[in-house]
Amino acid sequence: MSSTNYEFATQLIHAAQEPDLQTGAVNVPIHLSSTFAQKSPGQPGPFEYSRSDNPTRQVLQKNLAVLEKGSHAFCFSSGCAATTAVIMMLKSGDHVVCGSDLYGGTHRLFGQIFSRLGITTTPCDLYDANNLAPAIQKNTRMIWLETPSNPMLKLADIEAISKVANDHKLILVVDNTFASPYLQNPLTLGAHVVVHSTTKYIGGHSDILGGAAITNDESLAEQIGFLQNACGGVPSPFECYLALRSLKTLHVRMQRHCENATQIADLLSSHPKIKRVIFPGHKSFTQNELYKKQMRGPGGMISLEITGTAHNAAKFLENLSVFTCAESLGGVESLAESPFLMTHQKVDDRLKKILGISPELIRLSVGIEDIKDLKNDILHALEQSFS
Ligand SMILES: *Cc1c(COP(=O)(O)O)cnc(C)c1O
Repeated sequence: MSSTNYEFATQLIHAAQEPDLQTGAVNVPIHLSSTFAQKSPGQPGPFEYSRSDNPTRQVLQKNLAVLEKGSHAFCFSSGCAATTAVIMMLKSGDHVVCGSDLYGGTHRLFGQIFSRLGITTTPCDLYDANNLAPAIQKNTRMIWLETPSNPMLKLADIEAISKVANDHKLILVVDNTFASPYLQNPLTLGAHVVVHSTTKYIGGHSDILGGAAITNDESLAEQIGFLQNACGGVPSPFECYLALRSLKTLHVRMQRHCENATQIADLLSSHPKIKRVIFPGHKSFTQNELYKKQMRGPGGMISLEITGTAHNAAKFLENLSVFTCAESLGGVESLAESPFLMTHQKVDDRLKKILGISPELIRLSVGIEDIKDLKNDILHALEQSFS
Protein backbone atom coordinates (compact mmCIF):
# COMPACT_ATOMS: atom_id res chain seq x y z
CA MET A 1 0.00 0.00 0.00
CA SER A 2 1.38 3.41 -0.90
CA SER A 3 1.88 5.76 2.04
CA THR A 4 -0.35 8.34 0.36
CA ASN A 5 -3.28 6.03 1.18
CA TYR A 6 -2.49 5.90 4.90
CA GLU A 7 -4.33 8.06 7.40
CA PHE A 8 -2.58 11.25 8.51
CA ALA A 9 -1.22 9.88 11.81
CA THR A 10 0.35 6.94 9.98
CA GLN A 11 1.74 9.17 7.24
CA LEU A 12 3.47 11.32 9.87
CA ILE A 13 5.39 8.31 11.08
CA HIS A 14 5.82 6.24 7.92
CA ALA A 15 5.42 8.26 4.72
CA ALA A 16 8.73 8.07 2.80
CA GLN A 17 10.35 6.53 5.89
CA GLU A 18 11.07 2.89 5.13
CA PRO A 19 13.63 1.19 7.40
CA ASP A 20 17.15 1.84 6.08
CA LEU A 21 17.91 -0.67 3.29
CA GLN A 22 21.49 -1.38 4.40
CA THR A 23 21.15 -1.54 8.16
CA GLY A 24 17.45 -1.91 8.93
CA ALA A 25 17.61 1.24 11.09
CA VAL A 26 14.02 2.38 11.71
CA ASN A 27 15.10 6.01 11.75
CA VAL A 28 16.38 7.94 8.77
CA PRO A 29 20.19 8.25 9.00
CA ILE A 30 21.71 11.74 9.21
CA HIS A 31 23.79 11.85 6.04
CA LEU A 32 26.57 14.29 6.86
CA SER A 33 28.22 14.47 3.49
CA SER A 34 28.53 17.55 1.34
CA THR A 35 29.51 15.53 -1.74
CA PHE A 36 28.86 12.05 -3.14
CA ALA A 37 31.20 9.74 -5.11
CA GLN A 38 30.73 9.32 -8.85
CA LYS A 39 31.60 5.93 -10.40
CA SER A 40 32.67 7.60 -13.60
CA PRO A 41 33.19 11.35 -14.24
CA GLY A 42 29.90 13.12 -14.89
CA GLN A 43 27.94 9.98 -13.89
CA PRO A 44 26.67 10.76 -10.39
CA GLY A 45 24.48 8.34 -8.43
CA PRO A 46 21.18 9.56 -6.96
CA PHE A 47 23.06 12.28 -5.06
CA GLU A 48 25.80 14.61 -6.17
CA TYR A 49 26.21 17.59 -3.84
CA SER A 50 24.17 18.27 -0.69
CA ARG A 51 22.95 21.74 -1.66
CA SER A 52 21.22 20.15 -4.66
CA ASP A 53 19.92 17.16 -2.72
CA ASN A 54 20.78 15.21 0.40
CA PRO A 55 19.33 11.81 1.42
CA THR A 56 18.08 12.99 4.84
CA ARG A 57 16.53 16.13 3.37
CA GLN A 58 14.95 14.10 0.59
CA VAL A 59 13.04 11.98 3.11
CA LEU A 60 11.77 15.10 4.91
CA GLN A 61 10.71 16.62 1.61
CA LYS A 62 8.85 13.48 0.53
CA ASN A 63 7.17 13.22 3.92
CA LEU A 64 6.01 16.86 3.85
CA ALA A 65 4.72 16.47 0.29
CA VAL A 66 2.50 13.58 1.43
CA LEU A 67 1.28 15.45 4.54
CA GLU A 68 0.28 18.53 2.53
CA LYS A 69 -1.18 16.44 -0.31
CA GLY A 70 1.32 17.82 -2.78
CA SER A 71 3.55 16.15 -5.33
CA HIS A 72 6.77 18.01 -4.47
CA ALA A 73 8.20 19.64 -1.34
CA PHE A 74 11.35 21.70 -0.93
CA CYS A 75 12.98 22.39 2.43
CA PHE A 76 14.84 25.51 3.46
CA SER A 77 16.94 26.76 6.35
CA SER A 78 14.08 28.94 7.67
CA GLY A 79 10.54 29.98 6.84
CA CYS A 80 11.93 33.25 5.47
CA ALA A 81 14.30 31.32 3.16
CA ALA A 82 11.30 29.33 1.84
CA THR A 83 9.33 32.55 1.35
CA THR A 84 12.30 34.12 -0.45
CA ALA A 85 12.65 31.20 -2.88
CA VAL A 86 8.93 31.26 -3.72
CA ILE A 87 8.90 35.03 -4.36
CA MET A 88 12.07 34.65 -6.46
CA MET A 89 9.90 32.95 -9.10
CA LEU A 90 8.76 36.50 -9.95
CA LYS A 91 10.66 39.07 -11.96
CA SER A 92 11.06 42.82 -11.98
CA GLY A 93 7.78 44.52 -12.93
CA ASP A 94 5.58 41.82 -11.37
CA HIS A 95 2.99 42.64 -8.74
CA VAL A 96 1.79 40.71 -5.68
CA VAL A 97 -1.48 41.06 -3.78
CA CYS A 98 -0.76 40.04 -0.19
CA GLY A 99 -2.91 39.68 2.90
CA SER A 100 -2.90 42.75 5.13
CA ASP A 101 -2.22 40.68 8.24
CA LEU A 102 1.11 39.00 7.41
CA TYR A 103 4.04 37.62 9.38
CA GLY A 104 6.40 40.58 10.00
CA GLY A 105 9.35 38.95 8.23
CA THR A 106 7.25 38.30 5.12
CA HIS A 107 6.04 41.89 5.18
CA ARG A 108 9.69 43.01 5.41
CA LEU A 109 10.73 40.82 2.46
CA PHE A 110 8.05 42.35 0.24
CA GLY A 111 8.44 45.92 1.52
CA GLN A 112 12.21 46.22 1.90
CA ILE A 113 13.87 43.53 -0.23
CA PHE A 114 11.74 42.60 -3.24
CA SER A 115 10.55 46.19 -3.65
CA ARG A 116 14.21 47.03 -4.44
CA LEU A 117 14.15 44.46 -7.22
CA GLY A 118 11.11 46.02 -8.87
CA ILE A 119 8.48 43.65 -7.47
CA THR A 120 5.58 45.67 -6.09
CA THR A 121 3.04 44.60 -3.47
CA THR A 122 -0.46 45.74 -2.54
CA PRO A 123 -1.63 44.72 0.93
CA CYS A 124 -5.29 43.75 0.77
CA ASP A 125 -7.84 42.63 3.34
CA LEU A 126 -8.21 39.12 1.90
CA TYR A 127 -10.28 38.10 4.92
CA ASP A 128 -13.18 39.12 2.74
CA ALA A 129 -12.58 37.32 -0.58
CA ASN A 130 -14.57 40.02 -2.42
CA ASN A 131 -11.70 42.45 -1.83
CA LEU A 132 -9.34 40.48 -4.05
CA ALA A 133 -10.60 41.18 -7.58
CA PRO A 134 -10.41 45.01 -7.27
CA ALA A 135 -6.77 44.76 -6.06
CA ILE A 136 -5.61 42.79 -9.10
CA GLN A 137 -3.58 44.75 -11.66
CA LYS A 138 -2.45 43.95 -15.21
CA ASN A 139 0.97 42.87 -13.89
CA THR A 140 -0.27 40.89 -10.87
CA ARG A 141 1.29 37.41 -10.79
CA MET A 142 0.88 36.17 -7.23
CA ILE A 143 -1.43 36.23 -4.21
CA TRP A 144 0.14 35.65 -0.81
CA LEU A 145 -1.95 34.99 2.27
CA GLU A 146 -1.87 33.58 5.78
CA THR A 147 -4.84 31.90 7.39
CA PRO A 148 -5.32 32.01 10.35
CA SER A 149 -3.52 35.34 10.33
CA ASN A 150 -1.07 36.68 12.83
CA PRO A 151 -1.91 38.02 15.40
CA MET A 152 -5.64 38.67 14.75
CA LEU A 153 -6.40 35.04 13.73
CA LYS A 154 -8.57 36.12 10.82
CA LEU A 155 -9.46 33.45 8.28
CA ALA A 156 -9.25 33.78 4.51
CA ASP A 157 -11.51 31.61 2.36
CA ILE A 158 -8.86 29.70 0.39
CA GLU A 159 -11.37 28.09 -1.95
CA ALA A 160 -13.07 31.38 -2.87
CA ILE A 161 -9.74 33.14 -3.35
CA SER A 162 -8.35 30.31 -5.48
CA LYS A 163 -11.28 30.71 -7.89
CA VAL A 164 -10.40 34.36 -8.46
CA ALA A 165 -6.70 33.42 -8.71
CA ASN A 166 -7.43 30.83 -11.39
CA ASP A 167 -9.67 33.22 -13.35
CA HIS A 168 -6.71 35.62 -13.54
CA LYS A 169 -4.01 32.90 -13.87
CA LEU A 170 -2.33 33.98 -10.63
CA ILE A 171 -0.21 31.83 -8.32
CA LEU A 172 -1.94 31.49 -4.96
CA VAL A 173 0.53 30.96 -2.09
CA VAL A 174 -0.80 30.10 1.38
CA ASP A 175 1.44 30.26 4.44
CA ASN A 176 0.05 27.35 6.49
CA THR A 177 2.35 27.77 9.50
CA PHE A 178 -0.37 28.55 12.06
CA ALA A 179 -2.65 25.65 11.11
CA SER A 180 -0.05 23.00 10.20
CA PRO A 181 -1.13 20.18 7.87
CA TYR A 182 -2.97 18.61 10.83
CA LEU A 183 -5.69 21.26 10.68
CA GLN A 184 -5.81 22.36 7.06
CA ASN A 185 -4.45 21.46 3.59
CA PRO A 186 -4.52 24.55 1.35
CA LEU A 187 -3.55 22.59 -1.80
CA THR A 188 -6.80 20.61 -1.62
CA LEU A 189 -8.69 23.93 -1.41
CA GLY A 190 -7.07 25.28 -4.58
CA ALA A 191 -3.83 26.92 -3.42
CA HIS A 192 -0.87 26.39 -5.77
CA VAL A 193 1.93 26.60 -3.22
CA VAL A 194 1.94 26.02 0.55
CA VAL A 195 4.69 27.63 2.60
CA HIS A 196 5.66 26.64 6.15
CA SER A 197 7.92 27.91 8.82
CA THR A 198 8.76 24.45 10.19
CA THR A 199 10.30 26.36 13.10
CA LYS A 200 6.80 26.47 14.60
CA TYR A 201 4.30 23.58 15.00
CA ILE A 202 6.09 21.17 12.66
CA GLY A 203 9.37 21.54 14.61
CA GLY A 204 7.31 21.85 17.77
CA HIS A 205 10.11 21.99 20.34
CA SER A 206 11.58 25.46 19.79
CA ASP A 207 14.95 23.98 18.88
CA ILE A 208 15.19 24.26 15.09
CA LEU A 209 14.68 26.80 12.32
CA GLY A 210 13.31 25.56 9.03
CA GLY A 211 11.00 26.25 6.13
CA ALA A 212 9.26 24.39 3.35
CA ALA A 213 7.42 25.04 0.09
CA ILE A 214 5.04 22.39 -1.24
CA THR A 215 3.16 22.25 -4.54
CA ASN A 216 1.14 20.02 -6.86
CA ASP A 217 2.16 21.85 -9.99
CA GLU A 218 5.03 20.43 -12.05
CA SER A 219 6.09 23.76 -13.52
CA LEU A 220 6.11 25.52 -10.12
CA ALA A 221 7.99 22.55 -8.62
CA GLU A 222 10.64 22.83 -11.28
CA GLN A 223 11.08 26.55 -10.61
CA ILE A 224 11.18 26.23 -6.81
CA GLY A 225 13.60 23.28 -7.04
CA PHE A 226 15.85 25.31 -9.32
CA LEU A 227 15.78 28.26 -6.88
CA GLN A 228 16.40 26.02 -3.87
CA ASN A 229 19.63 24.81 -5.44
CA ALA A 230 20.63 28.08 -7.09
CA CYS A 231 20.06 30.36 -4.08
CA GLY A 232 21.14 27.70 -1.59
CA GLY A 233 19.08 28.45 1.53
CA VAL A 234 18.91 24.77 2.45
CA PRO A 235 18.68 23.14 5.92
CA SER A 236 21.42 20.94 7.39
CA PRO A 237 20.87 17.15 7.46
CA PHE A 238 20.77 17.29 11.26
CA GLU A 239 17.93 19.82 11.24
CA CYS A 240 16.09 17.74 8.65
CA TYR A 241 16.39 14.77 11.00
CA LEU A 242 15.02 16.80 13.92
CA ALA A 243 12.10 17.96 11.78
CA LEU A 244 11.35 14.33 10.83
CA ARG A 245 11.55 13.29 14.47
CA SER A 246 9.18 16.11 15.42
CA LEU A 247 6.68 15.28 12.70
CA LYS A 248 6.14 11.84 14.20
CA THR A 249 4.25 13.46 17.09
CA LEU A 250 2.61 16.37 15.25
CA HIS A 251 -0.90 14.89 15.54
CA VAL A 252 -0.59 14.17 19.26
CA ARG A 253 0.85 17.59 19.97
CA MET A 254 -1.68 19.46 17.83
CA GLN A 255 -4.57 17.63 19.44
CA ARG A 256 -3.38 18.72 22.89
CA HIS A 257 -2.62 22.28 21.68
CA CYS A 258 -6.24 22.49 20.46
CA GLU A 259 -7.72 21.02 23.66
CA ASN A 260 -5.68 23.22 25.98
CA ALA A 261 -6.32 26.37 23.94
CA THR A 262 -10.08 25.69 23.87
CA GLN A 263 -10.13 25.52 27.66
CA ILE A 264 -8.00 28.65 28.04
CA ALA A 265 -10.24 30.56 25.60
CA ASP A 266 -13.30 29.56 27.68
CA LEU A 267 -11.59 30.63 30.89
CA LEU A 268 -10.57 34.00 29.43
CA SER A 269 -13.92 34.77 27.84
CA SER A 270 -15.71 34.61 31.19
CA HIS A 271 -13.06 36.61 33.07
CA PRO A 272 -14.01 40.18 34.09
CA LYS A 273 -10.51 41.53 33.33
CA ILE A 274 -10.61 40.34 29.72
CA LYS A 275 -12.21 42.57 27.11
CA ARG A 276 -12.02 40.32 24.10
CA VAL A 277 -10.90 36.82 23.13
CA ILE A 278 -10.06 35.86 19.56
CA PHE A 279 -10.02 32.12 18.98
CA PRO A 280 -11.30 30.18 15.95
CA GLY A 281 -14.31 28.07 16.85
CA HIS A 282 -15.07 29.99 20.05
CA LYS A 283 -18.69 31.16 20.26
CA SER A 284 -17.62 34.79 19.93
CA PHE A 285 -15.50 34.13 16.80
CA THR A 286 -16.96 36.02 13.85
CA GLN A 287 -15.94 33.57 11.08
CA ASN A 288 -17.16 30.29 12.51
CA GLU A 289 -18.89 29.23 9.32
CA LEU A 290 -15.65 29.48 7.35
CA TYR A 291 -13.78 27.91 10.27
CA LYS A 292 -16.01 24.83 10.10
CA LYS A 293 -15.70 24.59 6.33
CA GLN A 294 -11.94 25.01 6.16
CA MET A 295 -10.27 23.84 9.37
CA ARG A 296 -10.33 20.58 11.32
CA GLY A 297 -9.65 22.26 14.67
CA PRO A 298 -8.88 25.63 16.24
CA GLY A 299 -5.11 25.39 16.78
CA GLY A 300 -3.19 26.60 19.80
CA MET A 301 -3.05 30.35 19.20
CA ILE A 302 -5.25 32.78 21.15
CA SER A 303 -5.26 36.56 21.02
CA LEU A 304 -6.86 38.54 23.80
CA GLU A 305 -7.35 42.08 24.94
CA ILE A 306 -6.93 42.82 28.58
CA THR A 307 -8.96 45.59 30.27
CA GLY A 308 -6.97 48.48 31.67
CA THR A 309 -3.91 49.88 29.98
CA ALA A 310 -0.62 48.83 28.40
CA HIS A 311 0.75 48.84 31.95
CA ASN A 312 -1.65 46.06 32.98
CA ALA A 313 -0.79 44.07 29.85
CA ALA A 314 2.94 44.33 30.66
CA LYS A 315 2.32 43.30 34.28
CA PHE A 316 0.30 40.32 33.09
CA LEU A 317 3.20 39.16 30.92
CA GLU A 318 5.71 39.74 33.73
CA ASN A 319 3.69 37.72 36.21
CA LEU A 320 3.25 34.58 34.15
CA SER A 321 5.48 31.71 35.16
CA VAL A 322 4.40 28.56 33.26
CA PHE A 323 3.91 30.71 30.14
CA THR A 324 7.22 32.27 29.05
CA CYS A 325 7.20 35.80 27.68
CA ALA A 326 8.86 35.26 24.30
CA GLU A 327 8.34 35.61 20.57
CA SER A 328 7.68 32.60 18.31
CA LEU A 329 5.00 29.95 18.70
CA GLY A 330 4.05 26.36 18.12
CA GLY A 331 6.37 24.69 20.63
CA VAL A 332 5.39 22.28 23.39
CA GLU A 333 5.94 25.06 25.94
CA SER A 334 3.41 27.85 26.37
CA LEU A 335 4.47 31.34 25.29
CA ALA A 336 2.89 34.76 25.67
CA GLU A 337 3.83 38.03 24.02
CA SER A 338 2.77 41.57 23.24
CA PRO A 339 2.48 41.94 19.44
CA PHE A 340 2.50 45.75 19.89
CA LEU A 341 5.91 45.72 21.65
CA MET A 342 7.43 42.53 20.27
CA THR A 343 6.54 40.61 17.07
CA HIS A 344 4.73 43.49 15.37
CA GLN A 345 6.66 46.38 16.89
CA LYS A 346 7.99 47.48 13.47
CA VAL A 347 4.56 47.63 11.80
CA ASP A 348 3.78 51.35 11.47
CA ASP A 349 1.37 52.80 14.02
CA ARG A 350 -1.33 53.63 11.48
CA LEU A 351 -1.41 50.05 10.20
CA LYS A 352 -1.32 48.69 13.76
CA LYS A 353 -4.48 50.68 14.46
CA ILE A 354 -6.23 49.42 11.31
CA LEU A 355 -5.30 45.82 12.11
CA GLY A 356 -6.34 46.11 15.75
CA ILE A 357 -2.87 45.58 17.24
CA SER A 358 -3.40 47.61 20.40
CA PRO A 359 -1.02 47.92 23.38
CA GLU A 360 -3.49 45.78 25.37
CA LEU A 361 -3.37 42.91 22.89
CA ILE A 362 -1.67 39.72 24.05
CA ARG A 363 -0.94 36.67 21.92
CA LEU A 364 -0.74 33.25 23.53
CA SER A 365 0.82 30.16 22.03
CA VAL A 366 -0.79 27.55 24.25
CA GLY A 367 1.55 24.61 24.83
CA ILE A 368 0.89 21.04 25.87
CA GLU A 369 1.55 21.31 29.62
CA ASP A 370 -1.12 20.24 32.13
CA ILE A 371 -4.17 22.43 31.65
CA LYS A 372 -4.56 22.96 35.42
CA ASP A 373 -1.16 24.62 35.66
CA LEU A 374 -1.84 26.76 32.59
CA LYS A 375 -5.19 27.97 33.95
CA ASN A 376 -3.77 28.73 37.40
CA ASP A 377 -0.88 30.61 35.83
CA ILE A 378 -3.21 32.83 33.83
CA LEU A 379 -5.58 33.49 36.73
CA HIS A 380 -2.66 34.34 39.01
CA ALA A 381 -1.01 36.69 36.48
CA LEU A 382 -4.33 38.46 35.84
CA GLU A 383 -4.79 39.02 39.56
CA GLN A 384 -1.25 40.38 39.91
CA SER A 385 -1.58 42.66 36.91
CA PHE A 386 -4.37 44.62 38.59
CA SER A 387 -3.08 44.56 42.20
C1 LIG B 1 7.78 32.38 11.86
C2 LIG B 1 6.97 32.56 10.66
C3 LIG B 1 7.56 32.72 9.39
C4 LIG B 1 9.06 32.82 9.20
O1 LIG B 1 9.71 31.66 9.57
P1 LIG B 1 11.21 31.61 10.15
O2 LIG B 1 11.41 30.14 10.31
O3 LIG B 1 11.24 32.38 11.43
O4 LIG B 1 12.09 32.22 9.12
C5 LIG B 1 6.73 32.83 8.29
N1 LIG B 1 5.39 32.79 8.43
C6 LIG B 1 4.79 32.65 9.61
C7 LIG B 1 3.30 32.62 9.69
C8 LIG B 1 5.54 32.53 10.78
O5 LIG B 1 4.94 32.41 11.96
